[in-house]
Amino acid sequence: MPENDVRDLIIIGGGPAGYTAALYAARANLSPLVIEGITFGGQLMITSDVENYPGYPEGILGPEMMQDFRRQAERFGAEYITDDVTAVDFSERPFRVEVDDDAYYARAVIVATGASARQLGLDSERTLQGRGVSYCAVCDAAFFRNKNVIVVGGGDSAMEEAVFLTRFADRVTIVHRREDFRASPIMLDRARANPKIDWVTNALVEEVVGEEGKVSAVRLRDVNTDEVTEIEADGVFVAIGHDPNTRLFLDQLDHDEAGYLETQAGSTATNIKGVFAAGDVVDHTYRQAVTAAGSGAMSALDAERLLSSEEGHEHKALAAPRAEAV
Ligand code: NAP
Repeated sequence: MPENDVRDLIIIGGGPAGYTAALYAARANLSPLVIEGITFGGQLMITSDVENYPGYPEGILGPEMMQDFRRQAERFGAEYITDDVTAVDFSERPFRVEVDDDAYYARAVIVATGASARQLGLDSERTLQGRGVSYCAVCDAAFFRNKNVIVVGGGDSAMEEAVFLTRFADRVTIVHRREDFRASPIMLDRARANPKIDWVTNALVEEVVGEEGKVSAVRLRDVNTDEVTEIEADGVFVAIGHDPNTRLFLDQLDHDEAGYLETQAGSTATNIKGVFAAGDVVDHTYRQAVTAAGSGAMSALDAERLLSSEEGHEHKALAAPRAEAV
């Protein structure tokens, strides 16, 4: 492998963690290559107003914020490939990262591939995806003006999506499989206060019913009585959480039972020296843009420290974080 073809750093994933890692790495002269995925931007591309990211007192749209993150890293020399990684080989350094027939090599890799929306797992759900079944209220709510929609789930996402949908839909019914809600009190209260929202608890979606290729109803089964009911609906928004995007790494990197990557305590280092992990791909607890961005910064600092401790690789060393001028 010619030395020139080996980069210092490849970052896999283009969300808050990946772009922040790219910003820090680019400013440390690591010339990072970010393979950001076809649907770059991560989950914030399917989020409406972000009101809890510090520095935006009026709030900002998720996609706009991701464009800002991306541009900021680009300004310092980050390069992007807007495609999905298809394979990785972390068995020796330099590490190999493949995008279809192209291979890229780097001394260090940061995995920041995030998490994806969970599906109910019904055949009818799959068949009717894009025909009334959606995982993103912000993307699709406008198609349901003056219609009736179902939101499945009992967490903050379900509450947020339901409230957002009331801007368009006539009626929004939240269907949850338990009596108690996982959502935070403030989100739950906001949804409860909304007169356009109805509630069905202790119910599982058994089938999404379609008519003429479009959603027309959902069939629900009561978990206590087994009673089956049908609610007419033009759309079904599934908001039941997320799974980490780690399929490509599971046979090489340590992970927990749910597939989230494991890192060493107080670090973003994985079990393989030179491979780091940041953002929602590691974090199933906080899962916020700001925490993902923070861990992205940590991963770039960790990668830079490792590379500068190794012989023969010269780049501008980052000052310790506290000493760094902003
Ligand atoms: P979550 O907290 O994991 O909630 C998922 C919900 O879906 C739960 O109520 C769960 O039911 C239900 N569920 C899971 N699998 C199901 C299935 N197969 N069938 C039916 N229901 C199913 O996920 P989330 O709501 O996406 O939130 C994830 C994280 O992001 C949380 O930490 C949340 O606070 C945060 N978040 C914050 C905001 C905000 O502050 N603006 C907005 C969105 C999300 P059970 O409760 O019975 O398990």
